[in-house]
Amino acid sequence: MRGVHDILPAEAAKWERVEGTARRVFEAYGYEEIRLPVFERTELFARGIGEVTDIVQKEMYTFLDRAGEAVTLRPEATASLLRAYIEHGLHVHPKPVRLYTMGPMFRYERPQAGRYRQFHQLNVEALGDDHPALDAQVIGMLVEFFRALELAGRLQLQLNSLGDAKCRPVYRERLLEYLRAHAAALCAECRDRMERNPLRVLDCKTPACRPVLDAAPSVQEALCDDCRRHFADVREYLDAMAIPYVLNDRLVRGLDYYVRTTFELTTAELGAQNAVAGGGRYDGLIELLGGPPDPGIGFAIGIERVVLLLPPPAEGREGRKPFAFLIPLGAPALRALLPVATAARASAVTVELGYGDRKLRSELERANRLGAAWAVIVGETELARGEAVLRDMASGAQHTVALPELARELARRFEVERSRS
Ligand code: AMP
Repeated sequence: MRGVHDILPAEAAKWERVEGTARRVFEAYGYEEIRLPVFERTELFARGIGEVTDIVQKEMYTFLDRAGEAVTLRPEATASLLRAYIEHGLHVHPKPVRLYTMGPMFRYERPQAGRYRQFHQLNVEALGDDHPALDAQVIGMLVEFFRALELAGRLQLQLNSLGDAKCRPVYRERLLEYLRAHAAALCAECRDRMERNPLRVLDCKTPACRPVLDAAPSVQEALCDDCRRHFADVREYLDAMAIPYVLNDRLVRGLDYYVRTTFELTTAELGAQNAVAGGGRYDGLIELLGGPPDPGIGFAIGIERVVLLLPPPAEGREGRKPFAFLIPLGAPALRALLPVATAARASAVTVELGYGDRKLRSELERANRLGAAWAVIVGETELARGEAVLRDMASGAQHTVALPELARELARRFEVERSRS
């Protein structure tokens, strides 16, 4: 299938690092994990994302299930998360209710480097609180996540305010008027988009459109007093936390529901797909979806793009090599070593076990190839004495251990080795 990808074992360490860092950072800020289904009623996304957005009009994986119900593979997580917030009455908890989730999203986009049809996101939402200090701390946490991955220096934080239900429509009209007057100088897509969603036109990447769009009226000048004050406070708090940002009054984001604070983290390193994370405030959306009039703010991080920025892990797949290779010689020895292998693994020691049907020499070669630190040999003689031979694969030195002690001995040596490295 086009636009999907496998995450191979050699890459999984990076994914674990990204997800582990997210958990650690988000939980330090009091966020709790919520796990959501990957499909929902189509109607939820149509309402929650906006009928006139690219996502809803062109990119959703929608199908009728066997009962004839229209369902959609989630293209983003916010709508599902808010559905769960409403459905389970999570709004009764102290505000803001802080939640995060992670997993695959599905969008029928044209695949290219850094853009997939099944991709993965980390999503964070803080619900029921509209204080500008919350906006600043949500953005601060996003930056902190990238600091923890040592990527913050390679990213730029872009910040804007889109106004609210009061001032945004006024700006929309003013912008539309301007775009209509300059329609002849805009590309076909801009002209097509402008009546439906004029703010999105500001996003157009076509070079020929830029002069007109760059000279378009700024949303900043259209903000009402409340929005202006809110945004000034957000910026003041970001300054207080020494979080650098650039003001970008052309930043509109692809989803319809954003109001007031919006932001994106961009990089110059990934070509056209330069957004690594984005988010914003969506006061009014919870109510629109049938819930209480709670405001909300959140962001999504694209995991594939974070992984693309990360350096390869230092030790590659080394971590998976067995500490010991157990070599039974014959079926009775295999029966004696099976429970030893189980016990060693239960103490988190990675061991591999032969089947007892090969020559000692070829089994030792195999232990060597696997990179095992120790070989454990049990032949007929050792079995009769209730012993095993432990062979240091590096030096070739050997000594015997009583079989009942073997698993414990391996665990002990494993600990010694680990504390040394
Ligand atoms: P959005 O939900 O569109 O604001 O996207 C949030 C983040 O998800 C973006 O900044 C990207 O990092 C990532 N993202 C969005 N769409 C894709 C895609 N098709 N393939 C890979 N990553 C994506």
